[in-house]
Amino acid sequence: MTTTAHDITYRLEQKRRVQADFPGPKSVALTERRKAVVAAGVASSVPVFVADADGGIIHDVDGNSFIDLGSGIAVTSVGASDPAVVGAVKEAVEHFTHTCFMVTPYEGYVAVAEQLNRLTPGDHEKRTVLFNSGAEAVENAVKVARLATGRDAVVAFDHAYHGRTNLTMALTAKAMPYKTNFGPFAPEVYRMPMSYPFREENPEITGAEAAKRAITMIEKQIGGEQVAAIIIEPIQGEGGFIVPADGFLPALADWAKDKGIVFIADEVQSGFCRTGEWFAVNHEGVVPDIITMAKGIAGGMPLSAITGRADLLDAVHPGGLGGTYGGNPVACAAALAA
Ligand SMILES: *Cc1c(COP(=O)(O)O)cnc(C)c1O
Repeated sequence: MTTTAHDITYRLEQKRRVQADFPGPKSVALTERRKAVVAAGVASSVPVFVADADGGIIHDVDGNSFIDLGSGIAVTSVGASDPAVVGAVKEAVEHFTHTCFMVTPYEGYVAVAEQLNRLTPGDHEKRTVLFNSGAEAVENAVKVARLATGRDAVVAFDHAYHGRTNLTMALTAKAMPYKTNFGPFAPEVYRMPMSYPFREENPEITGAEAAKRAITMIEKQIGGEQVAAIIIEPIQGEGGFIVPADGFLPALADWAKDKGIVFIADEVQSGFCRTGEWFAVNHEGVVPDIITMAKGIAGGMPLSAITGRADLLDAVHPGGLGGTYGGNPVACAAALAA
């Protein structure tokens, strides 16, 4: 791996500066306005309103500045207003804001697909589809896997987070705040034990043994031939930053291959260099059949993608995949710049 020095000149000083009256009066007033009009179910972690942000610093409306360790939930990996991203967005938006790729296609969508096919693991023939959110990418990865295999069952893991739509709530492991009272959930979702070295009952258990534990349970409770897809975050995010034991992911992926099960790596959070590699599966040389991406993909603009084996993605009939805004041209320009 090579590292190139990249000097960025920031608009805003990269410094934390918090005044004594925190949150300040403007943020307090905005919070009152917000309470009157924004649904209570949308909660915010930080009690201030942002006025500007650049690099790794957020400035609030009262003149405080903070180090942005949240990065908009692992999104602004290239900074909050990177000049390359901002420039690409301005350039794109001055031409056209939207045509819908399913109605009138444009080059940016194709260029993003080319880049994702190149950057994702494996040198096999690949295809890409673009969407808006991580949950939408996960939904579509499962759609493709079910259609391509003709099977129904989907395996997810303890501590998993895959989104807030109906199917992705079912795939998500955490009840509060994501699932409680939001059911009924999508059927044919099965949950298996994760490799969790830090909290294993038997800390000696290897990755291969943890994979065997999950595989045995899948075989007993579902049957390998019934399973359309195994979906897993190679390094979990929302359920705790859980790194499975070495050998767990390769053993699962190998078994999935044997059984004709589509192995989906949900890299919505772990992708785009969050773990030091382009994708977290790269650390162990695992090549997923389909990979889901979002968050860090486009420097903060809403964009998500699935990239996977051409035979799987091309199995879907024309019109079977898409969406009004998926692969928006401004978001594509941002992704190429990021
Ligand atoms: C955030 C996340 C999602 C959902 O992405 P949204 O863009 O919020 O829909 C799905 N999977 C993982 C692993 C995530 O971290």
